[in-house]
Order: sequence, then C-alpha cells, then structure tokens
Amino acid sequence: MLDYLDLEADLDEKERLIRETAREFVDDRVRPEIGERFEDGSFPTDLIGEMGELGFYAPNLEGYDSPNVSETAYGLLMQELEAGDSGIRSMASVQGALVMYPIHAYGSDEQRENWLPKLGEGEAVGCFGLTEPEHGSNPSAMETSADREGERYVLNGTKTWITNAPIADVAVVWARDRSEGGDVRGFLVETDREGVSTPKIEDKLSMRASSTGSLELRDVEIPAENRLPDVSGMKGPLSCLTQARYGIAWGAVGAARDCFEVAREYASDREQFGGPIARFQLQQRKIAEMATQISLGQLLAYRLADLKERGDLRPEQVSMAKRNNVRMARETARTAREMLGGNGITTDYSPMRHMANMETVYTYEGTHDIHTLIVGEELTGIAAFE
Ligand SMILES: Cc1cc2nc3c(=O)[nH]c(=O)nc-3n(C[C@H](O)[C@H](O)[C@H](O)COP(=O)(O)OP(=O)(O)OC[C@H]3O[C@@H](n4cnc5c(N)ncnc54)[C@H](O)[C@@H]3O)c2cc1C
Repeated sequence: MLDYLDLEADLDEKERLIRETAREFVDDRVRPEIGERFEDGSFPTDLIGEMGELGFYAPNLEGYDSPNVSETAYGLLMQELEAGDSGIRSMASVQGALVMYPIHAYGSDEQRENWLPKLGEGEAVGCFGLTEPEHGSNPSAMETSADREGERYVLNGTKTWITNAPIADVAVVWARDRSEGGDVRGFLVETDREGVSTPKIEDKLSMRASSTGSLELRDVEIPAENRLPDVSGMKGPLSCLTQARYGIAWGAVGAARDCFEVAREYASDREQFGGPIARFQLQQRKIAEMATQISLGQLLAYRLADLKERGDLRPEQVSMAKRNNVRMARETARTAREMLGGNGITTDYSPMRHMANMETVYTYEGTHDIHTLIVGEELTGIAAFE
C-alpha cells in the first residue's frame, strides 16, 4: 500500500488498530459487492449496524461510549472507507460529523442522551438538511422556516440533495426561526412525523452507492425542545461542515490511493508489445506523478490532524485541503482509468467508479470554486462573494 513518505511509522497503536479494522472491513464487506451496488444504485444498508459496532461513527467525539480516538485515527478511518467507496465514507461522515457532532456540540443533555448512543451504534440513521433547491452554494439565503406555536414548532420548506435522507430516522434541519427574527437554527426532526417525506433521487450518475434524497417538510409539528439550544446563525451548519470537510480531505486520499494501487498492479500484469505496460516510460511517468500527488495529499491531511488535535485548525485550512485533495483524487482517478484501457470503463475495476464519485465530492460540502474563494479571501482580505 502506498506510503512513500513513511507516514505510518509515526502512528500509535490505537491509530494502527482503527486503520487496520477499517481496511479489513472494506476488503471483506465493501469490495466484494460495491460494483454491483454502484450499478443498481443502492446503498448497502446491511452495513449500517456493522459500522456502528466497529465504532465508525464519530469515534473522535468525547463521552457517550465513544472510543474518543485521535483526529489522525479518525482521518485514517475516513481514508480507508473512501478507498472502498465515497458512498460508504459519506454515510459515515454524515452520521458522525453532520448529525452526531451538532447534537454533541449544540444539543441539550436530553437530546444527547436520546440520540448519540443510537446513532453511534447505527441503530438510528441521521441526515443533514441544509441545501435547498434554490440555495446551494449560498445556504445563508435559505427559505425553510420554523414558527413557534406554544410548545411546538411548525416547519415548512424543501431541502434537496440530502445524503441518507431516504434511510434516515432523524434529520438535522437548518431553518429560519421566524419567532426569533429569522435566525438560522437547527431542529431535530424525526422522519416519521406527519408532513415529512424523503423521496430518493434516482437518476444520479455519481455516488450511486449512496442514498440521496430530498427532505420535504409540510406543516411538520415538532416539540419546541427539538430545537438545538446552543447555536444560532450560520455558525451552526458551517461548523458542522468544517468537521465533515476535514474527513473529506482524508477520504479523498483513500479514493486516490485505491485508484493508484489498481493502476499500478494492472500496469505490471497487462502485457502489450511483448511485456508489461509498466515498462514504458509514459506509464511510469503517470505512476510517479500519481504517487507524488497522493503523498502530498497525505502530508496535508496529517498536518490538518495535528492542527485539529491541538485546537488550532482554521476552517480556511480545511478548505485548502478539501479543495486540493479532492481535485487530486479526481485527476488520479482519471489517469488510473486511462491506464486500464477498455477494462477501465467497467465496474470490475474501481477507478471509473471513484472518478464518477469524485464529481460529487468535488461539488458537495462547498464546491471547488467556493473553497477557492474562501482561501482567496483569507489570503487577500477581500471577499469575492458574500
Ligand atoms: C450526491 C450529493 C450529496 C449531497 N449531500 C448533501 C447533504 O447531505 N446535505 C446538504 O445539505 N447538501 C448536500 N449536497 C448538496 C451540495 O452541498 C450542493 O450541491 C453544493 O453546495 C452546490 O450547490 P448547488 O448544487 O446548488 O450548485 P450551485 O450553488 O448552483 O453552483 C453551480 C455552479 O456555480 C458555481 N458558483 C456558485 N457560486 C459561485 C460564486 N460565488 N463564484 C463562482 N462560482 C460560483 C459553483 O461552484 C458551481 O460550479 C449534496 C450534493 C450531492 C450532489
């Protein structure tokens, strides 16, 4: 497995263990059927409980039976899951960073006690509703509303492109609390409530082994205590996205590494003109370039982990890493696919599946363009967007 800069030598025992556990899980439970899942466009729901038992959901949070692993261990977990498929990593990312994290950071004791153990064990699935049909890159223009009526709230609006929505038990919905001047607030909405529907988006050509849907809210009544008490404004959803983007910066490296390993092996086995294609300089150039870019992406991810561990990580640094590593993975997948010739366009090999997935990863959690503008603003002091 590519580790050109010997980064693994610095891992501690717990980090090695979680990396090994995730790698074995991907080999045994994901790889054998992921091509089929991708083709028929379904998420392997039988893995949800298993991933919970293995501690894959937000293991870096404190308390509530969490293994409380290091940020490096969490990153390695994301890397291994995404080496399997971005859909598997997305499920775990949403559950951990976008659902458990806000409940942990901003929820009441009651909300934490009610949801964190169930979500952590995979007995319940969560989703995160921020994007709306008319407001993607600019979620602060959201229209979804929450109106307080006595001891309850009534929610109305539509969220779209919501990972896990069709299989979720609870949604973290970001909405304007019109009883408090329209501030953005987070609400926990059980999906079996009247007025909630979560239709699946069927026609995706990317991230096919992931369950994506809309989240439609029509006069949905929830108890007032379902509002997350400890955060208001865009800081709520944006702080969750920083957590998830951290995982993506690591995960993308895993997808790229998987493409690289498949291409390297293929080039060594595939014979043309009387010998393996790996002996051609043109192929070696691709292999050397992929390995270099993956190693640089790994360095960036490890550095983020150190900064996060000591509480110094800035959202803009996460933007730089998400932006770079996803672009790197997208390009690596394309190069690897190319090296596989005609066989590369089938689901028998992972690169084209990763390549298709990377179109989503390049787009969600802030598009590549938006992260460019975030980094640009920090470097120049001038906002190119509001
Ligand atoms: C499979 C999938 C899963 C997803 N899961 C979730 C989820 O779980 N929860 C959730 O809330 N959302 C989710 N999303 C939504 C995702 O975050 C949005 O798609 C993303 O934020 C982009 O929004 P948009 O699609 O509306 O594109 P738009 O915002 O309409 O952007 C279109 C294009 O315009 C560019 N653009 C926009 N503004 C600017 C600007 N100021 N300057 C330059 N270029 C600009 C963008 O970069 C992009 O190229 C998911 C998306 C996908 C595809």
